Amino acid sequence: MRVKVLGSAAGGGFPQWNCACSNCSRLRDGQFAGVARTQLQLAWEGQPNHWTLLNASPDLRSQIEATPELWPQGANRHSPLSDVVLTGAEVDQALGLLLLREFHSFRVHATASIRRVLTEDNSLFGVLRRFPGQTCWQDIPLRSPFAVGGARLEVLPLAGSLPGFVSAARRSECDPGEAAIGLWITPAVAAVSPPPSVVSPPPGAASSPSRKTLAYLPGVGSISDSLLERLQDADVLLFDGTFWKDDEPSRIPGLGRTALEMGHLPISGPGGSIERLAGLARPRKIYIHINNTNPILDEESAEHQGVRDAGWEIARDGMEINL
Ligand SMILES: [Zn+2]
Repeated sequence: MRVKVLGSAAGGGFPQWNCACSNCSRLRDGQFAGVARTQLQLAWEGQPNHWTLLNASPDLRSQIEATPELWPQGANRHSPLSDVVLTGAEVDQALGLLLLREFHSFRVHATASIRRVLTEDNSLFGVLRRFPGQTCWQDIPLRSPFAVGGARLEVLPLAGSLPGFVSAARRSECDPGEAAIGLWITPAVAAVSPPPSVVSPPPGAASSPSRKTLAYLPGVGSISDSLLERLQDADVLLFDGTFWKDDEPSRIPGLGRTALEMGHLPISGPGGSIERLAGLARPRKIYIHINNTNPILDEESAEHQGVRDAGWEIARDGMEINL
């Protein structure tokens, strides 16, 4: 199963339109050892020419245009996109749904709380109900596996919260476990094994097809022992790389909160994600959702090198992962 990273940045992208931090300024001036990034967006091809979007970013239109696999085929209106899975109701995760309004039918998979916040509290989402069956919303079960677009999914519970724009009344009605979720993603159909080698496999060697698993965790405030144990079984880990240091966002004018207060475990420092996940031997570890202020974006920085030396990759737009 092919998974494509269409966008790898946190909200605002890199550079961010109103940001003149060192990273954004140097990138605009052509003095930065690194690349621009659009806001976090993934897609997978579970069956040939059938793609599922993982969330719907504000950059979705340009991300589709940058990905020929997602272009319409044939002479008339068409899209290989048939499903969208939402892991939260933040603008960064859901605004792109409105960009899919051009009379194309698709399914949206979200927890009941995310669905209600978006469809019952925001009249703008009426543009996705202009004809019967334009969007079909399906509730994600929190405690049992479910299938979407050729993949088997399972919720990884997170102690997240609903976006700040949600009313107190709505907030009081919602199950906190439905506010923001991580996902465990496995191809429903296992990849075909490579042809057998002329050399006989060692006795007892497995000959079953490979079926890799991907853990998607772009916003994690803390790593419980049970989550850490679960991640031992992942083949690919896409993890919250928003901030390098806990005090990084508190230095941004107007924000005034630490990374942990925003629900993002910083990469560095005691208890940071490098340290906390250092014992994971199996998964390929990749940071996603990288904020424009994060020094790891600068490929000549000590922080970038530190992340690479710790065995982590740093996602960039266009990256492809095969499961
Ligand atoms: Zn910036």
